[in-house]
Amino acid sequence: MTDCIFCKIIKGELPGDFVYKNDSVAVFKSIKPSAPIHLLVVPQINRHIGSINDLEEGDRAIVSELFLVAKKVAKDFNLDQTGYKLVFNVGRGGGQLIDHLHLHLLGGWKNVEASRKNMP
Ligand code: 5GP
Ligand code: ZN
Repeated sequence: MTDCIFCKIIKGELPGDFVYKNDSVAVFKSIKPSAPIHLLVVPQINRHIGSINDLEEGDRAIVSELFLVAKKVAKDFNLDQTGYKLVFNVGRGGGQLIDHLHLHLLGGWKNVEASRKNMP
């Protein structure tokens, strides 16, 4: 998708603060964090997937990879012991503003009350 912000970030056409990349997934910081640590786990594959709504049977591998990368990066940021949230917004009614599938990885709050106040 030529006008997709996340496609442009992945291709290096727009700046992105990357914390991890492999062949199929990139992770970069959210420009407007909803948590002390707010990362976006994003597929970088040939097919542009808009949201969970657009997933097909053949997308099992990339969906698994999003979760496994999220788990790895959470550990890299020392969130594995303190805990974290993984969130998919789906469509405008679900709060999704960027139509490129992404998993929000959020954490770093000081206590459980703070962790329950903000959603991406
Ligand atoms: P959504 O609302 O679509 O689920 O989440 C979009 C996420 O992308 C939000 O965390 C928002 O702050 C982030 N975001 C929007 N535009 C940009 C951008 O240009 N660069 C980066 N790094 N993050 C962005
Ligand atoms: Zn895109």
